[in-house]
This record gives sequence, C-alpha cells and structure tokens, in this order.
Amino acid sequence: MKHRINILIYALLITLTCVLLLDSIYFLPVLIFITLTFLVTLTLGVLFLKMNYFLPSLIRLKNKEVLLTFDDGPDPVNTPKILDILREENAKSIFFVIGQKAEKHPEIIARILSEGHLIGDHTYTHNNMMALFSTAKLIEELTKSQATLTKLTGRRIPIFRAPIGYTNPNFARALKEMNLHSIGWSLRSYDTINKDVNKLRKRLISKTKASDIVLLHDNLDISTTVLKDYIQESKANGILFASSIDIKKLQNG
Ligand SMILES: [Zn+2]
Repeated sequence: MKHRINILIYALLITLTCVLLLDSIYFLPVLIFITLTFLVTLTLGVLFLKMNYFLPSLIRLKNKEVLLTFDDGPDPVNTPKILDILREENAKSIFFVIGQKAEKHPEIIARILSEGHLIGDHTYTHNNMMALFSTAKLIEELTKSQATLTKLTGRRIPIFRAPIGYTNPNFARALKEMNLHSIGWSLRSYDTINKDVNKLRKRLISKTKASDIVLLHDNLDISTTVLKDYIQESKANGILFASSIDIKKLQNG
C-alpha cells in the first residue's frame, strides 16, 4: 500500500540524511523538510479517500454509467422521495446506511432492495471521531453494523463507505479483517455544505461525467429537491445513469 511505501521512503531519506549530512548546517532543515513532507502526505491520505493511500477504494465505474450513492440514511422523509425519483428515472443507486438508523426503518431498507438498489455499510453509529478509533473498536463497530444489516436484509453486506471519507491504517486492518470492500466517490456533491438548491444543481450538472460515482446524502432536503432536475438535465447532456448494479464487479474494483 502507498502508506507503507511512504514510510519506507521516509526511513530511507532520514537514514541518508543522518549518514551524509550529520555535520552539515543543512542537517536540521533537511530533516524538518523530509518530516513535514511525510506528515503532509499522511494527512492528505487520511482526508482524501481518492488517493487510495491506506486502502484501495473503488472511486469510478469501469463502464460509462454514472452511479449515484446516498449516505447517512435511511431517512423517513427524504429516502422514500428519493426512491420515487429513482424509480421514475430508472436509475439504480447504493444507499450507504447507518446501522442504528436502519434498525428504526426496516421498511425503507426493504424498499431500497426490492427496487433494485444496493445497501452498503456506513457503520453502526457514524461517530464523527471514528478516525481515532483503535482497530479493535472499529471491528466492534463494524461487527454491529454487519449483524444489523444482515438481520434486516437476509444477506451479507460486503460494501462499505467510511464516515466523512476519513481512512487510516486502523480502517485498512479492520476492513481486511471483516472482508469489506471500500467504495469511495469521484464526485462529491457538497450537499452537506451547499444551502443553495440552484448552486448545487448547477455544480452537479456541470461536474458529472461518464463513470463518476457521485456522493449525495439521503437525509438532506436539498439533495431530494435537486435530484430530479439533476438527473433529467444530465440525461439531456448525454449522461447515462446506472440502470443495474453488479455487486461482484464493485467488489472486484
Ligand atoms: Zn456519512
């Protein structure tokens, strides 16, 4: 993994600096520069799933279709409205649901599956401090979400999305242990930040291109409001939305 390569390069550069520059005036500045570069790379790796720094994540489709994904549901108000729109537009999506919300709305989980969409694991609690969890605590969290989702759906849920998209070596170990495949995104809608429907619609329409995996949230009114126009205008621009999803292809990257 890129993280291991980065550690090896860092160790090598530190060793070389110590051997070659120990008595030089450049020793300390070079040491600080190498360390800062290492730390910046590490931080970017935590923040940007797209870098595939700690673990491999699928961030684009292999074909030309665009896959819409919805995080943080199920939501009793917005998820059914989103499902209505997806049905009218014949688009299939993945809903990365939070285990404890799913438990409260089993009928929405059943509807998502019966209409040909997929369920993904988005942890049990969606604790915002999860990036600081130990591997054991992450495994405990994922064991709970997996048990909940399996009970609700009658099947194993092999695809996962990290809350806020933050990953680290603990996530890499926990996902490997739980045999879960990370699904990222190539286009972030910023629907959690954007409060202006028109701006969000324009952003989505102008940025969406073939093979994109789009990150949206089905617990937000704005995402529901924008969805139909976004899909219809994108279709008019020649965008094809996924009309079926093969989970095996997702797992294999
Ligand atoms: Zn989330």
